[in-house]
Amino acid sequence: MLGNMMQDQLLISGVLEHAIKTHPQTEIVSHTIEGEVHRYTIEDSSKRAKKLANALKKLEIKEGDVLGTIALNGYRHYELYFGISGIGAVLHTLNPRLFPEQVEYIVNHAEDKYIFVDLPFLPIVENVYENIDVEGIILLCEKSQMPAETKIKNLICYEELIADESDEIDWPEFNENTASSLCYTSGTTGNPKGVLYSHRSTILHAWYACAANAMNISSTSVILPVVPMFHVNAWGIPYAAAMFGSKLVLPGPHTGGEAISKLVQSELVTNLMGVPTVWLDLLNFTRENNITLESVTSVLVGGSAAPRAMIKEFQEKHDAFLLHGWGMTEMSPLGTLNAFNSDMVNMDLEERYDLQTSQGKAIYGCQIKIVDDKGNTLPNDGKTFGRLMVKGPAIIERYYKGEETALENGWFDTGDVSTISKDGYMRIVDRSKDVIKTGGEWISSIDLENTAVGHPGIAEACVVGVLHPKWDERPLMFVVKNNLEECDKDSVLNYLSDKVAKWWLPDDIIFVDELPHGATGKLLKTGLREEYKNHLMN
Ligand code: AMP
Repeated sequence: MLGNMMQDQLLISGVLEHAIKTHPQTEIVSHTIEGEVHRYTIEDSSKRAKKLANALKKLEIKEGDVLGTIALNGYRHYELYFGISGIGAVLHTLNPRLFPEQVEYIVNHAEDKYIFVDLPFLPIVENVYENIDVEGIILLCEKSQMPAETKIKNLICYEELIADESDEIDWPEFNENTASSLCYTSGTTGNPKGVLYSHRSTILHAWYACAANAMNISSTSVILPVVPMFHVNAWGIPYAAAMFGSKLVLPGPHTGGEAISKLVQSELVTNLMGVPTVWLDLLNFTRENNITLESVTSVLVGGSAAPRAMIKEFQEKHDAFLLHGWGMTEMSPLGTLNAFNSDMVNMDLEERYDLQTSQGKAIYGCQIKIVDDKGNTLPNDGKTFGRLMVKGPAIIERYYKGEETALENGWFDTGDVSTISKDGYMRIVDRSKDVIKTGGEWISSIDLENTAVGHPGIAEACVVGVLHPKWDERPLMFVVKNNLEECDKDSVLNYLSDKVAKWWLPDDIIFVDELPHGATGKLLKTGLREEYKNHLMN
């Protein structure tokens, strides 16, 4: 027997309408590309999103049409999130750090009709223009900023496009499983693959990710997402902020330690969100300038593992809890979070920091399990590790235009290797391709890297497995110094020696000026592994 309740559809336009009625005066603050601070309210923003939606209809954009964006975190991008999806079109966010061949492949694969571009990124489109088939490019700028010359035939000014449109609209009603946005994920091999989110998955994810036991977002939160709006919908924050009336502070291109520190202090930011490298820079700046980030209560860290030293410094210097999260593009992205919970209430701080290095418990909305190579479920004992599998309403079923399911017996294989404790704490051991297999045992490159960055002279560390005549593979460490303290091979080995097992110690340490990072800030290990594969064989 079915229940007797309404079949009200979960639509992104409904999130915006809720925000207008409940928190119209909540601010959205943007540090613009030009350097000024732009400030307006949810009410102002929604009027402009509606003007945009009306303009799109005039451009004959229909339900299911895909519209690209190459833009940073700013108010115009925020308007696109609602204006495009609101009329049933698909918001396709592209990463401006991609190689030209990848941009070309992605635009063609997605069949973008128009692309909305931040002014500094126009050369990216000009570069591939001959090889893509779009109806026009819309520059996110004022009329006075439009370039005098360009090879692009139909170059439209965003402000002109929306200027004369009505700021009222009757949003169309459609099925909540309709596609709302698209984000490509680039693996280390093969072409990028598209993850096509729906209105339903996007709303459910934003809703459950912000619960008290998760991100704990409300109308008293002032959120500064450094996580880009071109990557997995900025972890769902733009939707969540509208749902719960949180003030948003969007940093644009100004994501260095000094700029973020200033924005935190001027806007009284409570919640920071981003990948660990951004916070290393912020912590360096605050340390050198003796600044305390007094308003900040929570720092959400995901994308890569949060080092223990970072967890401790945020707590002890800034009285901010580091909320360690894990997820991926295919999961909208959030899967687990290490929120402050009842287990931690009476815990000694040092013990709590150890626990916080785990990626935390599954949030409601995402089931997790670990399995062996044959797919058998492994025990949650905190020691046994296996392939981490996930399942839930905001998790991918198949890649965009993919013929086949991406699932294995109804579960998605994340490509991560992890343990799960009996209390449900999940700990990432490594990406399955990065784990170092030595003499039949496994070494976690992530653990070694995060332990190494506790050394006062190390800015960043990267560990890869390279061939070894006796042990198959051994760890090789690359180190970028921060020049704050003496740091040589012996001092690093000495530092590590009482923190990891003796057989985990790297066989060699190579000092480099910088490490290679991918378009989303992750360490790119494939090239290093290839270049140094015989380093220990001579
Ligand atoms: P992406 O789809 O680009 O967001 O990357 C997802 C991948 O990032 C995951 O499969 C993990 O390998 C890695 N990742 C995300 N969060 C964490 C974390 N907290 N600790 C370790 N690895 C992480």
